[in-house]
Amino acid sequence: MSEPHHLIPLNRPCFTGKELEYISSALYTGKIAGDGIFTLKCQEFFKKKYHFKKTFLTPSCTDALEMAALLMEIKKGDEIIVPSFTLSSTANPFILREAKIIFADSQKKFPNVSVESIAEKITHKTKAIVVVHYAGIACEMSEIISLAKKNNLFLIEDAAHALDAYYKNKPLGLLGDFAAFSFHETKNITCGEGGMLVLNNKKFMERAEIICQKGTDRIRFLKKEIVKYQWTDIGSSFVISDLTAAFLYGQLMNLKKIQRRRMQFWKMYFDKLSVLHQERKILLPQIHDYVKHNAHIFYIQCHNKKERDALLRHLNKNGICAAFHYSSLHTSSFIRQQYGKISLPQTEQWENTIVRLPLFFQMSEKQLDTVVKEIFRFFQ
Ligand SMILES: *Cc1c(COP(=O)(O)O)cnc(C)c1O
Repeated sequence: MSEPHHLIPLNRPCFTGKELEYISSALYTGKIAGDGIFTLKCQEFFKKKYHFKKTFLTPSCTDALEMAALLMEIKKGDEIIVPSFTLSSTANPFILREAKIIFADSQKKFPNVSVESIAEKITHKTKAIVVVHYAGIACEMSEIISLAKKNNLFLIEDAAHALDAYYKNKPLGLLGDFAAFSFHETKNITCGEGGMLVLNNKKFMERAEIICQKGTDRIRFLKKEIVKYQWTDIGSSFVISDLTAAFLYGQLMNLKKIQRRRMQFWKMYFDKLSVLHQERKILLPQIHDYVKHNAHIFYIQCHNKKERDALLRHLNKNGICAAFHYSSLHTSSFIRQQYGKISLPQTEQWENTIVRLPLFFQMSEKQLDTVVKEIFRFFQ
């Protein structure tokens, strides 16, 4: 019998120490509502590092997608193509606008959406394509961008996983009309709950500033372009407290360190598990050389559900919180009730065979070795 060891969680929210410093500094400014100093600092950071010219810090990635749906004026009868291998949040913002979701299938080699599946689902009612860069690994963006252009569709990147990841040297988040990031505690960079909308399509700049400010032109007022602000449009409150932004800024100032660590762990898993890949016991992600991922998730793939579930049971029993990922949206009870049975074989394959391994900033090499050891023990 092996020694029992402490529980190894799947994730622990990253904390660097810098966050508290900035939060107290925000408190002393006496301004802790939205659009404060730290919100601006975060926006400047994103502009400088990733050339995101126009960003909105939002309470969540879900909110950022809701903002996008409002801006695109999605309405009843519109069709939105969304991958099924994702969270409800990728689709819900469009359901709220009464659009019809058309689910696209995954690739065989990646959980990411397949270009062919998107292409065959485009109709005259299609208004937009949403992609999810699963695990911070970019989708096939050249092909998807040309599909969107050719058919005059909006392109939205659900980049919840994808901060600091690149496609052909371009940062993810810069490739669609809109991109939505998440700073939820499960993501690489966090402020507990938080998100960001990146606007790349100039057409929406002005209205975005109004929609996020409860439908008022307050931002023009803050820029001193007008003497008082008023209600001019529909909108909501899509801003975050400067306390939250201060926490986020603390993380951004440590971005390099956080990313370096995560990447080290990701590579260690990859190298140590390579033997099992060569022996065809498991499959490791084979990432294209034009894609630079961000070590958001380390996943392996089993050959079938039975083996995957047995591996998960073995790891969980030994205190390792490995997990499956995404119950696909097209098989959810919510969608099934309204849309009936839909079949997406690759998505279902991923749902049944993927295993996510513990990966977090404060993880130790010893913990990683324990995970690896237990995986080997299972396959022996
Ligand atoms: C985490 C996540 C979201 C939601 O992020 P929130 O900030 O919690 O709203 C959306 N899409 C994907 C793919 C995610 O992983």
